[in-house]
Amino acid sequence: MRLVLVGPPGAGKGTQAQFLAAHYSIPHISTGDIFRANLKAGTPLGLQAKGFMDNGELVPDSVTNEMVKDRLTHDDVANGFLLDGFPRNVAQAEVLRAILAEKKTPLHAVLEFSLANEEIVARLSSRRTCKDCFQPSVGVEKCPSCGGDVYQREDDKEEVIAKRLSVYQEQTAPIVHFYRTEGLLVTIAADGEVSEITDRAITALSRVHG
Ligand code: AMP
Repeated sequence: MRLVLVGPPGAGKGTQAQFLAAHYSIPHISTGDIFRANLKAGTPLGLQAKGFMDNGELVPDSVTNEMVKDRLTHDDVANGFLLDGFPRNVAQAEVLRAILAEKKTPLHAVLEFSLANEEIVARLSSRRTCKDCFQPSVGVEKCPSCGGDVYQREDDKEEVIAKRLSVYQEQTAPIVHFYRTEGLLVTIAADGEVSEITDRAITALSRVHG
């Protein structure tokens, strides 16, 4: 299964990505997590990305596209992959299409998470993130997945959330239309219990990919 998740920040892509990646036995590739890991390790890539991330802006395409291109050469994508947080604009979507066309491995589906704006803001402001594995959580002091310490992402602070939502509307939302035109778009409601949303996603995807 070669799958892209798309939806506003806070729609639950990262949470669902863990379950969907396990279900389909494919790697979860989160560009946000790759940037955060680089930032933590103090690499040049991390330093390049930091200012954009802290302000809720997109890291330039030249940097992001190269990073994804490289990640898609790893052996673990042989059976597919789940991309979370990429593409985030139409230019990135076109680059991804070209990379996959060259490998003759086109996408099977693009799963869109649909959620009301008020719910997004509420979720983002209460979200905490693991310092070690970056798993999101709410209302806990230690990561439920690995036991690491949790923190509030700089870009989950109220003043940056509004910026990220406007970046989503202006730059990322147009890829929904792009993928609808390509016949790849599958949309699900992203409200309710985590396990309900996972079931909804798997049912919707089974209609396009057995
Ligand atoms: P996320 O964890 O997906 O919310 O990403 C956190 C931040 O990383 C974003 O606000 C951007 O600054 C940066 N980022 C992640 N993915 C991309 C992308 N595809 N293009 C540009 N910037 C990205």
